[in-house]
Amino acid sequence: MPAPLRFIQSTPTLPTEADAVVIGGGIIGTFTAYYLAQRGLNVALLEKGVVGGEQSSRNWGWCRQQNRDERELPLATKALDLWEQFGIESGQETGFRRCGLLYVSNNDKEIETWARWGEYARSVGVKTRMLNSEEASNKGSFTGQRWKGGVHSESDGIANPALAVPAVAQALMALGGTVHQACAARGIETTGGAVSAVVTEKGTIRTPLVIQAGGAWASSFCRQLGIRFPQASVRQTILSVGTGPLTLPDAFVSDSVSITARGEGCHTLAISGRGKVDPTAQLLRFPAQFLPMFIKRWRKLSPGGLEGLRSGHEAYLRWRLDRPTPMEVMRILDPTPDAKSVRLTHRRAAALIPALGSAPVVASWAGYIDSTPDGVPVIGGVANISGLILAAGFSGHGFGIGPGAAHLVADIATGQDPIVDPHPYRLSRFDRGEKIEVSEF
Ligand SMILES: Cc1cc2nc3c(=O)[nH]c(=O)nc-3n(C[C@H](O)[C@H](O)[C@H](O)COP(=O)(O)OP(=O)(O)OC[C@H]3O[C@@H](n4cnc5c(N)ncnc54)[C@H](O)[C@@H]3O)c2cc1C
Repeated sequence: MPAPLRFIQSTPTLPTEADAVVIGGGIIGTFTAYYLAQRGLNVALLEKGVVGGEQSSRNWGWCRQQNRDERELPLATKALDLWEQFGIESGQETGFRRCGLLYVSNNDKEIETWARWGEYARSVGVKTRMLNSEEASNKGSFTGQRWKGGVHSESDGIANPALAVPAVAQALMALGGTVHQACAARGIETTGGAVSAVVTEKGTIRTPLVIQAGGAWASSFCRQLGIRFPQASVRQTILSVGTGPLTLPDAFVSDSVSITARGEGCHTLAISGRGKVDPTAQLLRFPAQFLPMFIKRWRKLSPGGLEGLRSGHEAYLRWRLDRPTPMEVMRILDPTPDAKSVRLTHRRAAALIPALGSAPVVASWAGYIDSTPDGVPVIGGVANISGLILAAGFSGHGFGIGPGAAHLVADIATGQDPIVDPHPYRLSRFDRGEKIEVSEF
């Protein structure tokens, strides 16, 4: 069974013009369209499959500042407030709540890293508290184990990935924006170096402003426009178990397994960082830039199979705008979950909490996490095409920081004061010859 997701109706007709067109109905594109509509723009959101169908419904749902890279932390902090604000102003249910996140560990090095991060984070106002062995063991008493230490990040929280993007899309439509599912953007037309239209499989929309928020598809789309965007994806597996009457934490992570409340009597289980790297044509395009990242994460990554090649999101194709593109062949990236990971994750969860051993597996799925070489997203304009903004490469963090990132995109697009400094997210940091600083987490 795939990841649970609430489905919504599309707007019946595609407009012929719009103030802005957003490509990609994940958390980033949908929140961006919402913030643009709030500012009075006439916005069309294009989604080749269903809104939320790819990474944004397949994740753990963690909305955290904890262990965020210094470059991303300001966005994460703003995003938490925006999650709350969205629920209040729209009346839509995303499942967001500041339940706090609990980390426990028996690894001294890991605990030291958390402590170092915590010192910095508290200096910029983040509420995070190191737990000594006694406190970590008490808070993690449901595991029946003693822990050397831990962290409680009390102002962080979770939202429900099955609900969040559809909720934002509904709110967008309530503001007059339009949502077009099963409608791939094939490409962009420019006039005099500026965006003039988006060509979709269902017609052309004239517009001066385009946001490319296509997640794992963004690099291949950019390549059609001569834009070099280094992006690679990692396939991660996750499962959901029925936990009905069990008393479990909302959000817990240890080195062996993570446990997150998902709603409807279920919790998701996963292994942090574990994933498969499927070889693709695109991966071979940026080997040098991704090498530092893969070296840093090699313990948890292993080579995958041909799944990534077949999916087409990282193909090295040039496509035409008057013919179906790979995005119309693969409406929803729904990679096969790794059966070994499913078994291992369930086993590890049962080792920590024996009652989880008999909790039935309700669903298991996988998602392609789109990453940049440094693990920090790209948010900003691109050289040579004015009116085009890229927002992709969220590197496994985009759900939680989604509203913050989308607000920043809307700020850049409308020339308002940016919610945070956009400099760390510029695409040009990946120009050849620039040093790549890989995020520690
Ligand atoms: C297993 C897993 C666990 C994760 N856990 C967390 C977590 O706990 N917290 C967290 O913050 N993040 C987490 N993430 C990462 C997070 O899910 C992503 O960073 C985030 O969802 C990215 O959002 P997005 O909108 O950029 O991309 P997506 O959600 O992938 O959306 C992009 C959309 O664009 C559409 N699209 C692409 N090209 C086109 C086109 N040309 N025309 C029309 N539509 C197009 C696609 O169909 C897709 O729906 C996790 C990811 C996975 C897979």
